[in-house]
Amino acid sequence: MTPHCKARRLAGGNHPDGNPLRTALALAAAGAPILPLRAGKVPFGNCRTCKANACGGRPNMKAAGPCQCPSPCHAWAAATTDPHLLTSLVWASVWREAVAVAYHPGGAGLTVVDLDNTAAVAWARETLPATRTVRTTRGEHWLYQGGMPSANAVRPGIDIKYLMQ
Ligand SMILES: [Zn+2]
Ligand SMILES: [Zn+2]
Repeated sequence: MTPHCKARRLAGGNHPDGNPLRTALALAAAGAPILPLRAGKVPFGNCRTCKANACGGRPNMKAAGPCQCPSPCHAWAAATTDPHLLTSLVWASVWREAVAVAYHPGGAGLTVVDLDNTAAVAWARETLPATRTVRTTRGEHWLYQGGMPSANAVRPGIDIKYLMQ
């Protein structure tokens, strides 16, 4: 009785993670503010108005400013869970160039169990409490509310991420 699973198969073909926007929307729906990354896995640069922080920066930056720019400027300060913003026209051009999606689970009070392969996913299905899941290239992310210490390679193919550097 999980009607949403089927709808997810419609796009993306053999590459469920080939569409960063879809991954972003799934993570955002789970409460993780996301930020698109371009080639080299770095944030997109600021727009002309925001160049060199000429706009003063965003309200959620260390040096808080008035910037309300609709583009993903100011790197992490632009991370959002707002699906309307993520699917806006302004972000559409960003998604065409995006190669990955970054998010900060600790900042969102989430813990992510990163299951790298089908064996790890099978282990999680038998062992972990059911929760929100997001498909990745080779496996799945399982997202839990609340923190727990990060640990890499808890078992082969499994990482626990709370605070990502
Ligand atoms: Zn801007
Ligand atoms: Zn700005």
